[in-house]
Amino acid sequence: MSFVTMGELLKKAQEGHYAVVAPSNKDEITLRASIDAAEEMHSPVIINLNYKAHPDIRFFARMCRDLALEASVPVALNQDHGAEYEHAMRAIQAGFTAVMADRSTLPFEENIAKVSEIVKVAHACGVTVEAELGHVGYSDKDDMKERALTVPSEAKEYVERTGVDCLAVAIGTVHGVYKGTPHIDFDLLHELRDTVNVPLVLHGGSGTGEDNLARACREGICKINIGTDVMQAGRDAVLHSVVHAPHDTLPFFYEAYKKELERYMVLFGSKGKA
Ligand SMILES: [Zn+2]
Repeated sequence: MSFVTMGELLKKAQEGHYAVVAPSNKDEITLRASIDAAEEMHSPVIINLNYKAHPDIRFFARMCRDLALEASVPVALNQDHGAEYEHAMRAIQAGFTAVMADRSTLPFEENIAKVSEIVKVAHACGVTVEAELGHVGYSDKDDMKERALTVPSEAKEYVERTGVDCLAVAIGTVHGVYKGTPHIDFDLLHELRDTVNVPLVLHGGSGTGEDNLARACREGICKINIGTDVMQAGRDAVLHSVVHAPHDTLPFFYEAYKKELERYMVLFGSKGKA
């Protein structure tokens, strides 16, 4: 149907009180599984590609655009966690419809300055920009100590000064596999939703729990990144598959990844919204 900006998908989600899932993609199999899941569920989808995940983002973007134009649902392509100005520029040049400029470990003023220069170029090219304020940590890295919840008054100022289209907020989730039980600060989410006017994004959706995620979608989150859960579903299916040749495992990966993603589309309320 269409290869669209992430901004337009998220505006509709914000108005409709649901969230669009952004699954981590790596290759053609994960890309096809993501778009096929969206078609099956009549759901929009945001293809998330980390700038490190594929050696040739121009090729990946062409492949995504081709499949999106043939699909019956809207598809956006987002560069996840771009860390340098150059990453964003290369993604825009390659044809991504969104970039995430993650400067969440920098001090406030520096974060604003760095992200603002990307917003200027991206908006001139019609590309959506996501940024992060507060910091969602990684369970497998030392930077868990850098975790910091988002402060609503800072988020408001940040969005106004940078002009970003959506904001990833830290309300208790982590990237990767949780150690311990996740605690989502819903009071903070409500305050952020009422203070910031752009759609809010949740990173580290995997393992956060169905009730927590469904509630977050109803109460202000418009996009949720899912990486670990879909990849693990694919890996587990491969490990349990009985095949004659190694490459015969790939359809198992595809099916399990797609099924897990469809589950999230239902949970996030985006089923039937395309
Ligand atoms: Zn993330």
